[in-house]
Amino acid sequence: MVKQTIQIFARVKPTSRKQPQGIYSIDEDEKAISALEIILPRDLADGFVNNKRESYKFKFQKIFDQESKQDSIFDIIAKPVAESVLAGYNGTIFAYGQTGSGKTFTITGGAERYSDRGIIPRTLSYIFEQLQKDSRKMYTTHISYLEIYNECGYDLLDPRHEASSLEDLPKVTILEDPDQNIHLKNLSLQQAATEEEALNLLFLGDTNRMIAETPMNQASTRSHCIFTVHISSKEPGSAIVRRAKLHLVDLAGSERVAKTGVGGQLLTEAKYINLSLHYLEQVIIALAEKHRSHIPYRNSMMTSVLRDSLGGNCMTTMIATLSLEKRNIDESISTCRFAQRVALIKNEAVLNEEIDPRLIIGRLKKEIQELKDELAIVTGEQRTQQLSQMELDNLEEQITSFLEDQDPESRLELGSDMRKIHHCFQFLKKLLSERKVPEKHETKDQEGEMPLKEEEYRKLRDILRQRDNEINILVNMLKKEKKKVQDIYSSHSMSRGGTRQSLSPTPVYGGPEDSLKPSMSSISKHTHDSSNLDFRPGFRRRKTGKKEEMSLGRQEAFEIFKRDHADSVTIEDNKQILKQRFSEAKALGENINEVRSKIGHLKEEINQRQMQRVALSVTENVVENQELDPVEEKLRSQMEEEKKSYKNMFTRLKGLKVEIEHLQLLMEKAKVKLKKEFEVWWIEEAANLQKKSLPENSPQTPESHQQPSQSHLSNKRT
Ligand code: ADP
Ligand code: MG
Repeated sequence: MVKQTIQIFARVKPTSRKQPQGIYSIDEDEKAISALEIILPRDLADGFVNNKRESYKFKFQKIFDQESKQDSIFDIIAKPVAESVLAGYNGTIFAYGQTGSGKTFTITGGAERYSDRGIIPRTLSYIFEQLQKDSRKMYTTHISYLEIYNECGYDLLDPRHEASSLEDLPKVTILEDPDQNIHLKNLSLQQAATEEEALNLLFLGDTNRMIAETPMNQASTRSHCIFTVHISSKEPGSAIVRRAKLHLVDLAGSERVAKTGVGGQLLTEAKYINLSLHYLEQVIIALAEKHRSHIPYRNSMMTSVLRDSLGGNCMTTMIATLSLEKRNIDESISTCRFAQRVALIKNEAVLNEEIDPRLIIGRLKKEIQELKDELAIVTGEQRTQQLSQMELDNLEEQITSFLEDQDPESRLELGSDMRKIHHCFQFLKKLLSERKVPEKHETKDQEGEMPLKEEEYRKLRDILRQRDNEINILVNMLKKEKKKVQDIYSSHSMSRGGTRQSLSPTPVYGGPEDSLKPSMSSISKHTHDSSNLDFRPGFRRRKTGKKEEMSLGRQEAFEIFKRDHADSVTIEDNKQILKQRFSEAKALGENINEVRSKIGHLKEEINQRQMQRVALSVTENVVENQELDPVEEKLRSQMEEEKKSYKNMFTRLKGLKVEIEHLQLLMEKAKVKLKKEFEVWWIEEAANLQKKSLPENSPQTPESHQQPSQSHLSNKRT
């Protein structure tokens, strides 16, 4: 068990304009604890707080100032969490802060540059890299992506949907079993055997999230998104399965309703816009108080889902994102205060290990079969379960005549058949209870050979009996487990066909044996033939956005809209970068092939030289020269060099592949966004025009209407 308080970090977002110096400062003391001091500007300090405090100090594990980059955020914050998840502990990283402070940027990443990718893609990359390296265990990885908006959960990984609003996505609900475990009904768990598959799922979810958002629901600022990586691992032959979950959480904006003019009490009385964040704060406060027995997790869906992360079985890390500009000072102080409370919470993470009864039964069955086989070898005959009636009759006759035989030398020869020995004892027992046996018949201790054998048989018999018992116990366990699961399912019949699974903190997978194997084989397949690069992520096969054909006018408008849109620069840039990367990859691929054939030639040459030397020593009849051949040495070192460069190029090619995939996904997402913005703009424009030119009674659809003027188009662009 690992006891740990929740780790808190702060990240300050770069300011766009040059800010007046002195709003905040960062100190780092000898114990490497960072302190953030927020200094209230004079004009705000007056009347802001009663005691006229002018600065606030907050401690964090580390504070990342404006110039911090995504890679160091990953290295310092996310990597240790990913490592403990790989070791079998649950982990959570959540970002908390007001809208626009950089939560999404930190958790998912920026939409423009590859180097801006955030904690999720970097963590996926790291986890799959580690899994590939570790060949001692078999791993299975699943991904789920949940959005919570207004106390409703939505499955962002629904591939069948062309969601145009949140309501189109499958609704996820919470079920609690009698042991108070939370199960998420309707949240799909998608298997991801490679980094590429996992990345596709992330982008699928993000695109669904973006498409579903309307100006009305402002989902991205009002909703929580929880991206979860589920890893289960098992050593070959072991019945112990380890399961760990990593939640990467992008919370709703933490801004509160500002009560301007209330004076001193402003900060303490301001209310969250988002009610579930209010409940989160209540949970945090309850956890920080000593002797509180009731923690109000159930007040909101988000706190229910994250129950383990808050004061439970999980290693949790919080990132407070701050946008430290003058107008945001009160929100920044609130965020820091919240973090200080969170830092008081102690979690206790344990290894989540389960014994899989099916595996044990399988193993025991195998063991029994082996013992039976061994027995058959020793006795020289294959045994059936039972003796035939004739054999039984013969045996009993034999025993009776043995008992009646007065000759002290007489022996009962049963051979080495355990069934006969058992039956013999049974029969004697029966006789004994029916009538007193006149004399004690010694069946053993005559020759010294029999007792030894019987000893052996008894041992074997005991082992068999023990195994039988164990199997019975395990079969019962299995039945109970099955019943429990059935109970949960049957009380809440599934609404979405058979494909959807309910997700529980300990998800119910198919047989670990069958689910683990495919993933391993595909991981290793991926490592071995990555020279054969395939640049088409599955995500691209998905059609997104509206299906309908555009009218010509509208298409033209879209072209202009696209041309003038700020994002098109990014798309163009990325296209260029992508082109470069492609040609780089192509060139690298060619180089790699060249080097490979060079290595082949060198090998060939070395072989030939060796043959020549042997041939020489035979024909000249001289003892083979033991000294090293300098030419051969040179060839060898040349080959080593080539191998080194081969390896370097190969690593680079693999990196390029990931980058290309990421860029393609970014572009795909940007295109969907552009299309969506165009739709919104088009409808607005058409409505405006209609108002202006047709004041009364001739309703027209936007489609049938005249095309919006170009001046509108360019005004709209930034
Ligand atoms: P939030 O999710 O908290 O509402 P975002 O992550 O969407 O905020 O950030 C708002 C804007 O600021 C985005 O355009 C984002 O790209 C930019 N941004 C945030 N943090 C950083 C950063 N550390 N470096 C560069 N840009 C950032
Ligand atoms: Mg956001």
